[in-house]
Amino acid sequence: MADFERINLIVTGHVDHGKSTGLGHMLFQLGQIHDPKKKREPWRIAERYYVDSRKEGMGSWSYAWILDPLIEERQRGLTINTSFMEFKSDKYIFNLIDAPGHSDFVKNLITGASQADAAILVVSARKGEFEDGVKRAGTASGKYANVIGMTTEHMLLMTSLGITDVVVAINKMDDIDPVYDQKRYEEIKKNIKQTFSILMKAMNVENADEKVENIKFVPTSGLIGVNLLPKDKCIQNLDGHIAAAKSGNADAKFIESLEKEKDETSKGYDALNWYQGPSLVEALDMIPSPIKRKAELSKKPLRIPVGSVLNIGGVGTVLTGRVASGVLKPETDVMISHTKKSRDPTTITVKSIQEFHKDLPDAAPGDNIGFNIKAKNLGASDFLRGSVIAPPNDPATPLKPGVDGFLSLVLVVRALGKKKKGGEGAWAIHKDYTPVVHCGTSQVACRVTEIRDLQGKEIVELGQNERAMIWMTPVQPIVVEPLAKSPPLGRFALRDSGKTVAVGIVEKVELGRYTK
Ligand code: GDP
Repeated sequence: MADFERINLIVTGHVDHGKSTGLGHMLFQLGQIHDPKKKREPWRIAERYYVDSRKEGMGSWSYAWILDPLIEERQRGLTINTSFMEFKSDKYIFNLIDAPGHSDFVKNLITGASQADAAILVVSARKGEFEDGVKRAGTASGKYANVIGMTTEHMLLMTSLGITDVVVAINKMDDIDPVYDQKRYEEIKKNIKQTFSILMKAMNVENADEKVENIKFVPTSGLIGVNLLPKDKCIQNLDGHIAAAKSGNADAKFIESLEKEKDETSKGYDALNWYQGPSLVEALDMIPSPIKRKAELSKKPLRIPVGSVLNIGGVGTVLTGRVASGVLKPETDVMISHTKKSRDPTTITVKSIQEFHKDLPDAAPGDNIGFNIKAKNLGASDFLRGSVIAPPNDPATPLKPGVDGFLSLVLVVRALGKKKKGGEGAWAIHKDYTPVVHCGTSQVACRVTEIRDLQGKEIVELGQNERAMIWMTPVQPIVVEPLAKSPPLGRFALRDSGKTVAVGIVEKVELGRYTK
């Protein structure tokens, strides 16, 4: 296992589009259901669910249940030792770091608590379901006017966070008319591609056209288990499960259900014979290795947005976070942007670095680490989530409220609020509006002080789908940096009342802008 590269993966998509079912089923077919306590074989776990569901009169059992104990297990985990769920393909080990099932998903995604290299986006092809997922705010009336589909919401978030390696599973292909219809697949693919293209261009993503072309679209049925694996491997593995179940004296009805599944799966693959591309797991294998991107990031100055602060008995203060850029070494001095005691960078000493319980000789971009620090007159309670670790010769400077400002290009994705004065549509952003900026691991309210259109003309308000340059000053100290200098601290989401209002990229930071 050790030679495989790890990819941190998030599974996104509108509620009920089949994320857990598809993933659970893929893990079953791969024979990679983890059973940390009892170490049972995959078919044994499936049989247990099957028998229990019949006993309790629940009708058919669901492959989605396979994920439940794993998610519970993970939620019990400590922050530094979060026991990620993993599965292995031919090329990578995938850490499944998050899925929108839990309430904290969007927050974790934006704040960087879950740091993904790549994403699966599950989109239902079922009539009406796809359309719900991509519903735009303002297209419905009454109380739903501001509702934006989660498919679109997740695409927005991914793009604003710089996650552009995406595999799109166009799911529930078994439940459309006609079943496994190529036309429906093409229609959805075109729609999603277009949206990604608009978003990537709005966010100044480098080589946007190429990145959009590299997105893989895979037609699947997570329920029947079609096109999650290549056909021959899928049938071979199902045969293996059936043989093992028979020799293990499994419940006869369960064996029958596996045989029926094999039959239906095989028919599904036949109906999909117009599709020549990769299956889901093969598409995941085609995600470009993050090694090159990480090597480039490791040459940039050290930046670690602090995710959490722990006070561990016998060890002392431990900060956790993911290395965004640069390299961290133990026994060195670094600067922390701000603490409860100072709004200016302060020197601290890194004693040791850990990842997955092990000591690391250094930590590079992408590493999720905990590091034990020492600092004069500073205890664990003095440190702040959202502060940023940087080298002494290039500290990360927090912007001070009402003193410093930053200029960003923003794209309004959802209009909240009232009708525009004298016009159509609802406003989202106006002068003195104070939404929450989510950047790195910080969430700080920032006040809009100036809005200019892309020609530089001052404007009063910004509506749905509009772009503009805006100046903001924070209400509490926050570190943001120009995108060109620090990609992870140069992208943010603007949120209000738990909803994403806009996404933005930082163009410029100006210290003392409001005191000149
Ligand atoms: P999630 O909220 O995205 O994780 O969705 P689930 O995996 O919980 O699935 C939601 C519902 O859709 C369940 O009733 C599933 O049985 C059903 N479902 C999921 N995938 C498929 C599929 O490929 N085909 C069909 N027909 N139903 C599916």
